[in-house]
Amino acid sequence: MKPFAILPLFCSLLLSAWTIQASDRPNIIFIFTDDHCEQALSAYDDSRITTPHMDRIANEGMKFNKCYVTNGICGPSRAVIQTGKYSHLNGFMTNGDNFNGDQQTFPKLLHTAGYQTAVIGKWHLKSTPQGYDYFDILQGQGPYYNPPMLYGGIEAKATKREHIGYTTDIIRDKALDWLKNERKDDTPFMLMFQHKAPHRNWQPGPKYLTWLDDETVAEPQTLFDNYENRASPAAKQTMEIKRHLTESDLKLKAPGNLTTEQRAAWDAAYKPKNEAYLAKRDSMTEKEIIQWKYQRYVKDYLRCVKSVDDAIGDVLAYLDEAGLAENTIVIYSSDQGWYLGEHGWFDKRWMYEESLKTPLLARWPGVIKPGSVNNDIVSNLDFAETFLDLAGVKVPGDMQGKSLVPIFKGETPADWRTSFYYHYYEFPGAHSVARHYGVTNGKHKLIEYYNLKPAESELFDIEKDPNEMISVHGKAEYAEIQKELEAELKRLREQYQLPPQDPPSRRELRMKEKGKNNKNKGKGKGQPKEAEKKKAA
Ligand code: CA
Repeated sequence: MKPFAILPLFCSLLLSAWTIQASDRPNIIFIFTDDHCEQALSAYDDSRITTPHMDRIANEGMKFNKCYVTNGICGPSRAVIQTGKYSHLNGFMTNGDNFNGDQQTFPKLLHTAGYQTAVIGKWHLKSTPQGYDYFDILQGQGPYYNPPMLYGGIEAKATKREHIGYTTDIIRDKALDWLKNERKDDTPFMLMFQHKAPHRNWQPGPKYLTWLDDETVAEPQTLFDNYENRASPAAKQTMEIKRHLTESDLKLKAPGNLTTEQRAAWDAAYKPKNEAYLAKRDSMTEKEIIQWKYQRYVKDYLRCVKSVDDAIGDVLAYLDEAGLAENTIVIYSSDQGWYLGEHGWFDKRWMYEESLKTPLLARWPGVIKPGSVNNDIVSNLDFAETFLDLAGVKVPGDMQGKSLVPIFKGETPADWRTSFYYHYYEFPGAHSVARHYGVTNGKHKLIEYYNLKPAESELFDIEKDPNEMISVHGKAEYAEIQKELEAELKRLREQYQLPPQDPPSRRELRMKEKGKNNKNKGKGKGQPKEAEKKKAA
């Protein structure tokens, strides 16, 4: 045979190899929000809101009922997702830390494997993203309106850009623009589409400023919790709707960074409501004031969620239009759960169910059975491993989670985890939640407040007491369960290589360094500690 005669055969072989490869390497869109809890996602709980587009992912894919985060706070959760490692190993233990982007991360590995990688929206890891062909990110928390953002990539220097508009919509537009104009047709991609919303202080977009005005949102059973029958930290936090929401949180004060037009719409929505409240506030009981604050807070939170849901709907619609839906895995999650008034709280941080759990939905046409529900214990610790496995990239041995791909296929491995280790470090810090670690098997939960003197513990029977109102630690009838969980906690701390003492966070190291310098300058002892305290307050 002459050489040119085999050319068509060669080309056709090459083409079929490419086709197989393309479908073997699906696209990944990771949709991520900040502080979005299951209580405000109707696939989980439809008592307060309907989220049809998030629900669509659940209906066409899989809903996870037990997705636990390893450290329930923004930055640390993101660092766990980047690295597949617990906080003590990735070095980002509190929001005061700064992510060491030089370490191994899943986007770097995907990029090396030929994936086009992008992150758009909230980043919140302080250091410049590495491993992304493109990033376009909020700076720090970023505002709800008119955000400055930083764009760049592996081959482009980070550049600041100003924007006018509602941040959720801007992030959606950027994600759509990237999918339409920057995405390469011949390369699989991984896009992280990450929202600021519904993070504090819950500023709704123009479309939803008055939505729910005429409704009363259901109150949680534990809105008036008195924190009895538990260890001391629950009563000592500073995240109560009753005492700790500010005038800005409650929109008694308007945001400062609105354009004239945005401000006019804002005032038209909030001024009449505020005037009505202020006119009757003096005659209201304490309980009525808490109820008013709850309604104001929860409605603003739900309004923010509604805009995110709309944005997700637009992206899903584009995937359909562009013929991308079939070969694109869509995963929805949040960096941790949240208190919508449970225990009288806003915020997160605790190992209690509402903040330990985060929503997790996944759609993978042709692989995940539509409408499936999973009750295995999974975690944000597993996300990096899952993304790599989806792309056919070997999961590095030092990552600590497990790929969810077998679970997507309906085949939970026989040795899948049946218990979970949690560890929260940010004390002293915002909202004054004591450091704690613990273990849960989904039925019972042991929490150790190890830094208190003396240390305190809690044990909950989650099936009997789902709101975690009564600790049964030390009770004779739970002695056996307590012993088992104590042993399991010890085993997990060894498995995950926890040191006996918390390692200093990068922030603590910085403070220590600062203290040394101050001492050298003769400015006196103890100053860094005081400065730290003030910042935390
Ligand atoms: Ca968060």
